[in-house]
Amino acid sequence: MNIHEKDHSTPSNNRVGMTLTEKILARASNRKRVAPGEVIFVNVDILMSHDPCTPGVASVFKKEFGEEAKVWDPDRFIMIPDHFIYSADPQANQNIRVMREFAKEQGITHFYDVGTADYKGVCHIGLAEGGHTRPGEVLLGTDSHTVTAGAFGTFAIGVGITDGAYALGTGEIPLMIPPTIKVNYHGKKAKSVQAKDLILVLMKELGVEGATYNAIEFSGEVIDELSVEERMTMCNMVVECGAKNGIMIPNQATLDYLSTRTSIPFTVVTPDDNAQYSRIIDIDVTDITSVIARPHSPDNVVPIAQLENIAISQAYIGSCTGGKTADFIAAAHILFERKVTIPTYAVPATKEVFHNLITTHINGISVYEIFTRAGVKLSSEPGCAACCGGPVDTFGRVHDPISVISTTNRNFVGRMGNKGSMIYLASPYVVAATAVSGFITNPERYLTNDY
Ligand code: SF4
Repeated sequence: MNIHEKDHSTPSNNRVGMTLTEKILARASNRKRVAPGEVIFVNVDILMSHDPCTPGVASVFKKEFGEEAKVWDPDRFIMIPDHFIYSADPQANQNIRVMREFAKEQGITHFYDVGTADYKGVCHIGLAEGGHTRPGEVLLGTDSHTVTAGAFGTFAIGVGITDGAYALGTGEIPLMIPPTIKVNYHGKKAKSVQAKDLILVLMKELGVEGATYNAIEFSGEVIDELSVEERMTMCNMVVECGAKNGIMIPNQATLDYLSTRTSIPFTVVTPDDNAQYSRIIDIDVTDITSVIARPHSPDNVVPIAQLENIAISQAYIGSCTGGKTADFIAAAHILFERKVTIPTYAVPATKEVFHNLITTHINGISVYEIFTRAGVKLSSEPGCAACCGGPVDTFGRVHDPISVISTTNRNFVGRMGNKGSMIYLASPYVVAATAVSGFITNPERYLTNDY
């Protein structure tokens, strides 16, 4: 694997241009230009909140703006329950009750309530499906993986409850302009290498604090060729190295996706040729193999060859990182006419993903059927499920101190439930191959040439 740093010193002859993030923030603050370190007020296009945070956001909003206050724009506050939704846990259900009351009281247009036809599932994928992730806009969410929407050329960041409540009342937020790290992926990747591998390689390079409060701007021919869902996987994990946001210029696949999701006009913003970056990282993907993030940190990344034959007790396919349609299809190519040998749980990120499993076929067999014939326990209840552990009755939750391989994005101690468990993060190919063998397995062993 070749990773190079490039000279990124400031050109001396003229004023530097702006990065993609800087240009969006300049537009959103009605300024001609902004520079890293400046603190400005930014107009918010979309604010999203989910079930764990909406009660807190609503409570701070009322405390600061008054019991009778109205949100700044009921069309732009998107409410998506997704974390702890199919549970008998009283606190989890109370959160959703608060969401319902607040949505009704405020006349919220987009409340994707569980148990209704509108329900989506994991908020970050639901936002995209609902056409709320538009290029050139500013999107806030009370969840750190809101950065996923950077795949659409959106400035998308996670915010805390107080910032969320402030934006809810005013439609703006104070922000310090982040410096930008540019990451250029080029070369020809092996068929077995997926977007998850590409982003884990960057996690290893940067470390969990290596991009703290920087924007990460992805570029290069490899990024241009990724599907929308693969691009979402890349941006999803930038927060694991401390980045403020991750962002890409929308490619044609992204624009095609958007054309089926929204009729709201948007402007595609691109970086200036002479933009200045805090760091430029050049990654040649040609020699990259599948990689794994070992316990207990997403940057603890090694090539799969170093871990092959480690016994695994449970596998999990799901989450905003690895529970999208493309992730299921990839896993299905490995699982086709095979059986898993360890308990394997799969949770579609959204209702639309679940529907796609039924309507998408490989060699005449639906992805849904490939999974169930393989012996995977496939949930029909989309959401975050065991990605973040959740209440004890959460589907796929890790209850014992065992080794687990997962398509999710975090492997901190206790993240999926049991504090003694060992979580290995990997691509859908690797997780499916490991589920079949029971040992960490290079998917090249199972991938056929006709796929
Ligand atoms: S799927 Fe996991 S990472 Fe994504 S929003 Fe839900 S809990 Fe967070």
